[in-house]
Amino acid sequence: MTQPTFSLARAESFWREKVLPTLIDYIRIPNRSPAFDPDWKRQGSMDRAIRLACDWCHANMPPNSSVKIRELPGRTPLLYFEVPAHPTLKKAPPVFFYGHLDKQPEFDGWRDGLGAWTPVLENERLYGRGGADDGYAVFASIAALKLLADSGQPFPRSIGLIECSEESGSIDLAAHLDALKTELDRPGLIVCLDAECGDYERLWYTTSLRGNLIGELRVQTLTEGVHSGAAGGIVPSTFQVIRAMLDRIENATTGEITLASLHVLVPPDRRREIVEAASVLGDLIWKRFPWAGCTQPRFTDPDDALQANTWFPALEITGADGLPSILAGGNVLRPTTALKLSLRLPPTLSPDAAVQALQTAFSGDASFRATTSFKIHTAIPGWNAPEIAPWLKSALKKSSTTHFGQPALAMGTGGSIPFMQMLADRYPATQYFVTGVLGPGANAHGPNEFLDLRTVIRLTACLGEIIASYVCAVS
Ligand SMILES: [Zn+2]
Repeated sequence: MTQPTFSLARAESFWREKVLPTLIDYIRIPNRSPAFDPDWKRQGSMDRAIRLACDWCHANMPPNSSVKIRELPGRTPLLYFEVPAHPTLKKAPPVFFYGHLDKQPEFDGWRDGLGAWTPVLENERLYGRGGADDGYAVFASIAALKLLADSGQPFPRSIGLIECSEESGSIDLAAHLDALKTELDRPGLIVCLDAECGDYERLWYTTSLRGNLIGELRVQTLTEGVHSGAAGGIVPSTFQVIRAMLDRIENATTGEITLASLHVLVPPDRRREIVEAASVLGDLIWKRFPWAGCTQPRFTDPDDALQANTWFPALEITGADGLPSILAGGNVLRPTTALKLSLRLPPTLSPDAAVQALQTAFSGDASFRATTSFKIHTAIPGWNAPEIAPWLKSALKKSSTTHFGQPALAMGTGGSIPFMQMLADRYPATQYFVTGVLGPGANAHGPNEFLDLRTVIRLTACLGEIIASYVCAVS
């Protein structure tokens, strides 16, 4: 086994002594992303969270580094840090680190004793909203740089872009990147710490992300609700009409998205990665979810399940209007049904093409010529990694073998990080290391979100190794 750049023990003590107390404070702050708290500025939690992270950076960064909260009118702030290059690496392309501080809302179903804003450390897992998605990112980035600096390892100029609008589709990030134009030279390596991991046994790196389209489909048949006994059989149900409209894009029995234009071909190298990851993960790919009763997954074959999760479109109805709660529902023919559609898009499908396909599918007369509308809220692209450089491939393998005891594996992620394609468009020749700590059960966005400490400590050590390998590759 090769000599590690710095010992796992040092990464561990840095995490326990320096990071954990602040990360625990961070979990307490209800800094919901602007989409979930339009009043975020006045509410003040975002400012508290970013100030906490900023102060921590000040205290823990390598010497001569700088950190700043960058504000733009009407936008969420951005935490920007810069660690200067070692004198021998002044000309090396910089490394960018990406993470975010905004959070998903609480959601319900937290088990007794846990809660979104109640940090609990139990069995080496830190529970609470935003620890794993994605508060840890700024701490892990600085930890890796600080440990490299302390062990005398040179590294190039390193820049941190820690945003506060990721969970709202990174609506403010492009403006911050534009405002930072002069600081953001062409990076040689971009590290994105906001992805998933297949298990907690090795380093995982993400090679594709799905895009996401959010829209609102609305059907209206009446100007006001009427007695369902008097009108039923004459007036069509808005629910029936909207259900028929959904049939234009989805097979209601299998859940398959039937619009051919929403599918893409899986590139051969990504196919190979799916086969490899599926053979390692097996049933864990679907067993990691909290199934109710005898519910079966759409695909039990691990290969099919992983492919569907990372390269196929998938629809969920994430909200509704016009539908009272069961308790409040009366015998009435409701005038309107509106559904919020969240459609995950294959990595290489353009969001514009997806918008076009849905608009076409939902245009044209609905059953009984009911009044319908389809409004797009957002459509963000997925991402497919460029070819991974040989130095990065071997650094991933070596660092994972050193610190986890097993080689790294690649996988696609079913979720979206809007930032990635934004960067890929700006820096097509850059190498990307996209990884994360959201493994089985970590449940970002849902109840009982946790950060697995053993994994984040190992990941931090791997990150240090990968930066050291980058240095060898560019010097
Ligand atoms: Zn995230």
